[in-house]
Amino acid sequence: ERILHARGLTKIYRSGEVDVFALRGVDIDLYRSEMAVLLGPSGSGKSTLFNILGGLDQATSGQAWFRDLELTACSEHQLTRFRRDHVGFVFQFYNLIPSLTAWENVALVTEIAPSPMPPDEALAMVGLQERMGHFPAQLSGGEQQRVAIARAIAKRPEIMLCDEPTGALDSKTGVLVLEALSRINRELGTTMAIITHNAVVRQIADRVFSFRDGTIVEAVRNEHRLEPS
Ligand code: ADP
Ligand code: ADP
Repeated sequence: ERILHARGLTKIYRSGEVDVFALRGVDIDLYRSEMAVLLGPSGSGKSTLFNILGGLDQATSGQAWFRDLELTACSEHQLTRFRRDHVGFVFQFYNLIPSLTAWENVALVTEIAPSPMPPDEALAMVGLQERMGHFPAQLSGGEQQRVAIARAIAKRPEIMLCDEPTGALDSKTGVLVLEALSRINRELGTTMAIITHNAVVRQIADRVFSFRDGTIVEAVRNEHRLEPS
């Protein structure tokens, strides 16, 4: 079952006199409960694709769908609802509220979601049951990112889009964050797409897409995905 797909997606940014072709006709299908990873050099279009599939940005041409909903035909208001109801975002920087504890940062989101997960449960899924009362400044970078992940899953999104979630972490800490994402994908069946440069990610992905100059140059299925530890 297809959750997200795109056909002929292009994105052109106009910067002064120059047109930057960020996406040059991308076709992609993401299936329910799969773990997809996007690799490729900086500037190859990965974030741009995420922003369009996640309803954060509009394409220049081509089409993208969430199930039967054509995202590329949606108004800003419809895209806002799509993001709120269906997508969990994780970025390089955690954007936690410093004056709130880990538990309170997660609870803030669950107050407005239609069928949220209790904050304790979301924090336990990322291994932070012992840290719920800590403030962001009392947590390591990897722990702060796991709070941000707990916040994203607490609204039970169907899709998680993670744009360089390990970008600010050393590689060992990054592995723990990727394992937390892998466990969520297995246990909740959340469809997940991750942009990362961490080499371990090839082992925990179901499929790996390689980007270059605004196109997908390779899509490889991984038949030997490792179980999260
Ligand atoms: P990646 O995620 O693979 O690093 P991006 O999608 O961020 O790539 O960027 C693709 C291309 O689009 C790059 O050349 C980048 O400089 C350009 N780009 C991205 N965002 C903007 C923007 N807001 N304005 C102008 N150019 C942009
Ligand atoms: P880049 O890939 O160029 O470093 P980012 O990944 O930080 O850029 O951001 C890409 C896009 O996602 C931007 O258009 C920004 O508006 C949006 N964005 C970044 N962080 C958040 C956030 N915490 N919540 C919502 N949107 C965000």
